[in-house]
Amino acid sequence: MNIVCVGAHQDDIEVNCSGTLLKYRQKGDVNITIVVLSNGDKGSQHNPSMPYEEVTRMRNAEATRVAEALGGRYICMGQPDEYIRDTDEARNQLVDILREAQADVVFTLPPVDYNTDHMVTSQITFHAVMLAAVQTIFTDHDPLPTTPVTYYMESVVGLEWQPTHYVDISDVFEQKCELLRMHTSQMLNAERFGGLDLVKVAQIVGAYRGMQCRVEYAEGFKPVLAWPRVRPGTMLP
Ligand SMILES: [Zn+2]
Repeated sequence: MNIVCVGAHQDDIEVNCSGTLLKYRQKGDVNITIVVLSNGDKGSQHNPSMPYEEVTRMRNAEATRVAEALGGRYICMGQPDEYIRDTDEARNQLVDILREAQADVVFTLPPVDYNTDHMVTSQITFHAVMLAAVQTIFTDHDPLPTTPVTYYMESVVGLEWQPTHYVDISDVFEQKCELLRMHTSQMLNAERFGGLDLVKVAQIVGAYRGMQCRVEYAEGFKPVLAWPRVRPGTMLP
């Protein structure tokens, strides 16, 4: 199975989806591609004097290491952090990534979230998933034979968000925390900006979702209920 996760920033996927990626990996043969639309260059609030280019380099290096630890790969689409736009080029860039990856399942950010980068990323992904199988959209790779199944991840700290599907991540939760700690700069940035580092957020939200479905830790998702992105049953692990 080919899984593509699309986030706005370098740590978006790990916070709300990496436990699920670890479960996929545990259960079988999967290819994991993590796509991030922004270059992450504003993500150094704990050290604001760091030049943007250096922040981008640092965050891409962190994201690459995390993707490799998941047995996957990392692709950065390079838009400016906090100014992600839905453009024809961005749509086609993502369409081509989905085609090259032969995506079966796509995860992305929810349509309403704390940051318009997240919301625009969600919108671009929503559209690119469908375009990836459209024969009259031309990119470097051939159209997909079928539209990938698509799931929305949790919003940041779960606001305006109620999952319909849960993945039990209890036995991989410590591994998930290790992945989050590999985002060294974002552990500090998140604490400076929001008062909680990434691991604390994952513990609180994961335990809350776990309580809802009677396990220790869970991640919550919603399938994108829009034709032709829906299939019977679930493709979650
Ligand atoms: Zn983000």
